[in-house]
Amino acid sequence: MPIRSHNFFAGPAILPVSVLEDTRDAVMDFANLGVSIMEISHRDKAFEKVIQDAQQDALTLMGLSAQDYYVIFVGGGASMQFAMVPLNFLHKKADYINTGEWASKAIKEAKMLGEVVEAGSSKATNFNQLPKELKFSPDADYVHITTNNTIFGTEWKKIPDVGSVPYIADMSSDMLGIKRDFSKFSLIYAGAQKNLGPAGVTMVVIKKAWMEAKAKTNIPTMFKYKTHVDGASLYNTPPVLPVYVVGRTLKWILKEGGLDAIQARNEKKAKLIYDVFDAWPNFYKGAVVNKEDRSLMNITWTMPTAEIEEKFLSEAKAKKMLGLKGHRSVGGCRASVYNACPVPSVEALAKFMEEFYKANK
Ligand SMILES: *Cc1c(COP(=O)(O)O)cnc(C)c1O
Repeated sequence: MPIRSHNFFAGPAILPVSVLEDTRDAVMDFANLGVSIMEISHRDKAFEKVIQDAQQDALTLMGLSAQDYYVIFVGGGASMQFAMVPLNFLHKKADYINTGEWASKAIKEAKMLGEVVEAGSSKATNFNQLPKELKFSPDADYVHITTNNTIFGTEWKKIPDVGSVPYIADMSSDMLGIKRDFSKFSLIYAGAQKNLGPAGVTMVVIKKAWMEAKAKTNIPTMFKYKTHVDGASLYNTPPVLPVYVVGRTLKWILKEGGLDAIQARNEKKAKLIYDVFDAWPNFYKGAVVNKEDRSLMNITWTMPTAEIEEKFLSEAKAKKMLGLKGHRSVGGCRASVYNACPVPSVEALAKFMEEFYKANK
């Protein structure tokens, strides 16, 4: 294994070293079959086991039962889910909580298929906080929430209550990074490349009874959740290699101690950087205005001038700290500290931030 840089990319993003090693081995020889994981039929027993293990491990981590929920792996990214959700479940009207660029894109797709009500929005302040005033429609087909806003750095630690209306969540950037009551949701989706694996696959968790009762049937086959549920994620060829890597990542999370241990570590990592903001708030200006809205996964800030920011990023890069530039739509800096990002990397960043402050204040 070559020396690893400190990886703060927002996505695709860091994976555990042991997962990379397992993948390297499986790329050469999968399950001692003398073929690569990329060279085997998705209908072979050995791959079926990979996908079944991944489904069961995901359910175990979420504390959900295989009787009530199904886990499927589909292509097209979380962006395709923005359309698949309303294609399947928007009959008349849906509530969306607008907390950023990804939520806005989900709204745009849903609007093509039905009536969309913004149950709350923080757009007026460029999404630098989570909306506190939410108003839900009792007759909505569902409510859609983005649990972690990757670009702006806000995260719902406590999920707002929506009563008995079906709840749908885009958890792309904090899936299995924080312990939640996953049984509150009728559907959860997460593009793998933030916290679960490589790009190319999206994990979807769906409440079976609700899907059977409510999903539309007059839509093309590949866009129906039921197709993938009935086909056990093997209706057509799934992205075999990405599914394998997600499977290894799920086993790694279990080995690390599950979501309690992962969340505790993520809280510790995030605190290291937020403490730096709180120590020198005029130099490292946290982009999120309310402390309780601060994301455990994506930590965002700006610096006094564009020149200082550039100097910061280039010195960080020289210290092998990569991926700290903010999203092109908001600028500034962002440290993504997903599950696989080790504590020593975050400690190194916090130490560098302190040194940089003292040298440049
Ligand atoms: C990255 C991201 C997306 C888009 O994912 P793609 O796989 O690129 O389509 C959607 N939602 C959230 C919260 C994200 O972080």
